[in-house]
Amino acid sequence: MDEYPFFFTWVKQKNPLRFSIASVDGVKIITETGHQLIDMSSISYQASFGHNHPTIIRHMKEQLDTIPMSAPRGIFPGKIDATQELLKYMDKKEGKIFYATGGAEAVENALKIARDVSKKKLILARDISYHGATLGALSATGDWRNKAHFIPSRDWVVRIPEPSEPDAIAKTRKLIIDHGKDNFAAFIIETITGGNGVYAGTQEWWDGISELCKEFGILLIMDEVICGFGRTGVSFGYMNYNVKPDIITLAKGITGGMVPFGAVWVSQNIADYYMSNILACGLTNYAHPLGIAAMSGVLEIVQDFEFQKHLQHICAVFQKELEKLRSLPEVENIRYKGMLAAVDLTVDIQWKTFFDKGIHLATQNKRIVLAPPLIITEAELIEGMNRFKLALKELDQ
Ligand code: PLP
Repeated sequence: MDEYPFFFTWVKQKNPLRFSIASVDGVKIITETGHQLIDMSSISYQASFGHNHPTIIRHMKEQLDTIPMSAPRGIFPGKIDATQELLKYMDKKEGKIFYATGGAEAVENALKIARDVSKKKLILARDISYHGATLGALSATGDWRNKAHFIPSRDWVVRIPEPSEPDAIAKTRKLIIDHGKDNFAAFIIETITGGNGVYAGTQEWWDGISELCKEFGILLIMDEVICGFGRTGVSFGYMNYNVKPDIITLAKGITGGMVPFGAVWVSQNIADYYMSNILACGLTNYAHPLGIAAMSGVLEIVQDFEFQKHLQHICAVFQKELEKLRSLPEVENIRYKGMLAAVDLTVDIQWKTFFDKGIHLATQNKRIVLAPPLIITEAELIEGMNRFKLALKELDQ
């Protein structure tokens, strides 16, 4: 079919890359022709537990059989239990959760809340970043998608120097002073830049950011949409660094992609503020029972000791396999943390080449971000990496 009655995302609509899915099986996608793809990017970083994890499905089915929908103000047992479980997994004894239906929406609400409680307008964001496709989240985003003519909001976003720049913190401090030190509501930062190439800040850089937050009373929003729920080998990406976020945005892995869902954690200070101020945030499908149920399934998986053992093991296998790529002529550079890796190539990428070799990837220019499902077995991961190498050889020809 040349013309579909729906759009494809982020591309010209004439002959976009696409494939038909006949079935899914763990980390594999099977096409209509029976071609098997190992999903080496967890679709777009959300299928952290594969494509049909029985625990998540069980929780969702049970929910469908009991309370399949709820009013935003409705309190059903799962909503309380799952939220308490989430806070426990986040190692948070305080603070509150606001639910959303995806990453961009979580970011929108985080930005709104930060501006509301601080009564300030400006935010600081990285250039190499993606925070979502809605206007506010896209304004915070620094990648090519922010360059479109329809973005009206650049006037409230100040771009900070990349962590790798010399004197990045001193320059950021100067930016804050130049724009008025009392004008900033928040920093919004992906713990580790995900889709844009796995660029992490050093501990020193994070210490500097934390200092600036303290010095100027700026809130720290950590965008954990990709890094949350085990992606970097620990529960949340920010736990790799000694940082104390005021607000955390979650999506993708929160339900393993099984249902659109997201969440925002806010600190106790912020939660207290709303005891006597209206929280002017809301959505029809707030804390939707199916999202809550899928999240419960995810929390059951990630808090299981066997999963945690597996995660440590599979991260080590992945690291070993990634290091083997360094000597390949097609590979320029590699950056990774846990089960999230970027491979910069010296050759042009053709998504089809990877597809033909039997792997699914989210490719971008000369850079590939690998993010296999966290539940992938050692054998599947090695097979996926071997297919990846075969595809690289072909790209070269
Ligand atoms: N934040 C980050 C770091 C992301 O990678 C994404 C999506 O890729 C988003 C936010 C937006 O999430 P969603 O696509 O669910 O709106």
